[in-house]
Amino acid sequence: MATMAATVAWIGLGHMGGPMTANLVRAGHRVQGFDLSAAALAAAVDGGVSAAGSIAEAVTGADVVITMLQTGAQVRSVLEVALPVLAPGTLVIDSSTIAIDDAVSLHEWVEGAGFPFLDAPVSGGVPGATAGTLTFMIGGAAGDLARARPIIDVMAGRVFHIGGPGSGQAAKIVNNLMLGITLAATCEGAVLADRLGLDHRVFYEMAKVSSGDSWTLRTWYPMPGVVETAAVNRDFDGGFAVDLMRKDLGLALAAAESTGLSLQFGAAVAARLDELHAAGLGGKDSSVFVKVVDGSA
Ligand code: NAD
Repeated sequence: MATMAATVAWIGLGHMGGPMTANLVRAGHRVQGFDLSAAALAAAVDGGVSAAGSIAEAVTGADVVITMLQTGAQVRSVLEVALPVLAPGTLVIDSSTIAIDDAVSLHEWVEGAGFPFLDAPVSGGVPGATAGTLTFMIGGAAGDLARARPIIDVMAGRVFHIGGPGSGQAAKIVNNLMLGITLAATCEGAVLADRLGLDHRVFYEMAKVSSGDSWTLRTWYPMPGVVETAAVNRDFDGGFAVDLMRKDLGLALAAAESTGLSLQFGAAVAARLDELHAAGLGGKDSSVFVKVVDGSA
């Protein structure tokens, strides 16, 4: 892969893929994108992505292929179409959040077909994707990561080589278990502060420099008019969907079970997310959790 301008095939141009590809284009790379959603593809074209009519068209001539999809099954089905079209040795990176076992089997299959593969999930949400400050958690060979760095660095604040195949996903799933529980804590605190008549902004500013601080508080504080990036300011549209948060907690709970662990707080948050999904809010940003706390969901 050229260190200067590379041709990147990108499959999955949703909330994350859209802004991530815009940063690659801004850095001078050519991005050939495909998404099943015409609206997602059109938004990415506005960011400078060249629209492909199919997965095969997107990956033709690519130096690197990146998938940013919802599930492991989607990643496998996309790569089933892509691999036969790729030039030998093309680097394949999956930045979706998927099950550890799925990532391990993708490594075996893709590498067995002659293509280096990295599991490379990210943290930082849409704001991090937009700012190019995502945290990348990499599972795979150090040499493959070295090849990927010129591309990943454009989108990253920090890049961690966690370990071998699947370890990026393992780190991500643990991180998001903590995110889900912290979100629930932040929503319960925000609603209680409101009920106690505290000024939203004053409480927020205090907690931010006290022991109640967290990434969730600073980025998603669920009371209107306090944090600009928070989805509460736009009726919980965009961001990190309830259904994706629920998926990640399910992955964490299943991984925990496989090690004999029972995670009570994670399970409680997952049950509340199921309630939000049942209330028709599965596509809303997961900070809509505040509605199960205040009883308005
Ligand atoms: P999204 O649903 O907005 O985007 C996924 C896109 O993939 C959609 O536009 C969908 O149309 C497309 N897609 C699905 N199947 C396809 C196929 N076969 N071919 C082409 N396109 C296909 O999801 P997102 O929020 O961008 O998240 C993507 C991944 O990143 C998920 O695994 C999620 O868990 C993870 N993630 C999300 C966030 C966040 O804040 N949104 C943060 C970190 C990680």
